[in-house]
Amino acid sequence: MDRIQLQKLRELPIEGVAERLGLAVKRHKALCPFHNDHHASLSFKVSKNTYRCFVCGAFGGPIDLVMRYLNKDFVEACRWLADEHNVILEGDRRQESGDSREVKPFDASRYERFFERPWLNDEARKFLFEERRLDSRVVRWCRLTSWKDKLGVPWLQTPYYDREGKLIGIQNRNLIPGCTPRFRFPSGSKTTIYNLSVLNLLRPGEALYIAEGCSDCWSLLSAGHKAIAIPSATLLNKKDVELLQALSSELSIRFEMWPDNDMPGERLFLQLQKVLPDLVHHQLPPDCKDFSEYYLSTKT
Ligand SMILES: [Zn+2]
Repeated sequence: MDRIQLQKLRELPIEGVAERLGLAVKRHKALCPFHNDHHASLSFKVSKNTYRCFVCGAFGGPIDLVMRYLNKDFVEACRWLADEHNVILEGDRRQESGDSREVKPFDASRYERFFERPWLNDEARKFLFEERRLDSRVVRWCRLTSWKDKLGVPWLQTPYYDREGKLIGIQNRNLIPGCTPRFRFPSGSKTTIYNLSVLNLLRPGEALYIAEGCSDCWSLLSAGHKAIAIPSATLLNKKDVELLQALSSELSIRFEMWPDNDMPGERLFLQLQKVLPDLVHHQLPPDCKDFSEYYLSTKT
């Protein structure tokens, strides 16, 4: 482990690390796990990225917190932190998302087989079918699968394919509510426009819905629409825009959208409208923040 890698671990947000360890953080405070505490004596200083207990004197940064809480030595604690937060350590295959240095290319051959025989654990079934009320045909179509990591954390795996059907990336979603990190991507993963394989099913003149994120896409599909998704409103990049432009000139289809009921949603619509001038705007009811909520409201 070199200095830069250690620095990354030391900069992991202390409150996120505490939450990952299972502490309930509220207004920069938590019950101190190092003495018999009833008054949330542990406080977090976000500016210095440290914790301190005013009763027992426990003090330190993210690495110290993990060492102390999990009773690990320094190296073990670093490994745990790196693993939990997708920080790449020497010899590791994982890559911190958003960091473009030394990205190993995505090795599709390692992962393809997971999606040939998708398997949904209880947590994934609960999330997809009870909470999201998705159509099982959609879940199969999207080849969603699940796994558990060595700490027993259940993850939903969403494969991303390019237009030719080649696996180009995987999004792992943490199925424990409120848990961080929420998403993980294997090294070199790309997330382009989601569900491009639906293009093969589109007939001329049909509507193609554009969602924000794959879970809204699943709801749109479950509602009987044909849909693709922008990975995230903030990730609308040049390549995705060019792909949309190409689709609109190649295919005689209509583009439609139910923007999220918030500023980023409207901003995304306006951005896309510049590329797709005929993009149709559907308005969600005021009490629904996104299409998934709207879809759920029609199911009850
Ligand atoms: Zn204490």
